[in-house]
Amino acid sequence: MTKYKRILLKLSGESLMGSQKYGIDETRLNEYAEQISEITKMGVQTGIVIGGGNIFRGLSGSAKGFDRVKGDQMGMLATVINSLALSSALKGVGVKARVFTSIKMEPVGEYYTKEKAIESLEKGEVTIIAGGTGNPYFTTDTASALRAVETEAEIMCKGTRVDGVYSADPEKDANATRFEKISFDEVYAKNLQVMDLTATALCRENNLPVLVFNMDKKGNLKKVISGEPIGTIVYK
Ligand code: UDP
Repeated sequence: MTKYKRILLKLSGESLMGSQKYGIDETRLNEYAEQISEITKMGVQTGIVIGGGNIFRGLSGSAKGFDRVKGDQMGMLATVINSLALSSALKGVGVKARVFTSIKMEPVGEYYTKEKAIESLEKGEVTIIAGGTGNPYFTTDTASALRAVETEAEIMCKGTRVDGVYSADPEKDANATRFEKISFDEVYAKNLQVMDLTATALCRENNLPVLVFNMDKKGNLKKVISGEPIGTIVYK
């Protein structure tokens, strides 16, 4: 039995770097594909949004003199590169995956609509939605919140490099403790860095819980789907 029937998995671009300083680490990519394969075998309908920070970030681009809108468009294209890489790794482990893009760029990916994405989820295909929201000044956390709400996912699973949401930065403060559950209001009140405010507001307003967990530990995604108490659930 699985705890969820339909999820939206957010993967950060940075975690795709693995031990590298830039780009895509093949080992990490394949580990992710294996973990996703495990949950598709459990029958979970899986939508995925991936970041692009391992390749390009609009904000750092504008610091180097790029026009912000152009920089953000470059960032969105970076998410498409990551999405294609993941879809190809999934194919390599025998999992059907389909790439949708928020910006028209057929035949790289199909132009996203809610209906087509849900159809793909219902067929059991891993549904990767690339290109962020399609708009500058947003993040892929916001894109994944948006796509989770649109595709009627029960939860947004935010795969990170840390075990969940902590009272302080666990790398700097030895007394930092992990929350098992925390409300969006507490996240605001305590100024905890879970997601940007736009993404947080979208989840809160639409009553979409967010589960923050460590995706870099093999088997963790399966644990999440099985309802094992790992990570932190942020709820309304
Ligand atoms: N981006 C954007 N609109 C979106 C999503 C992303 O303009 O809807 C751009 C933005 O420049 C961002 C980059 O794409 O810096 C990469 O996304 P993000 O930083 O969210 O990736 P992550 O941190 O998850 O790797």
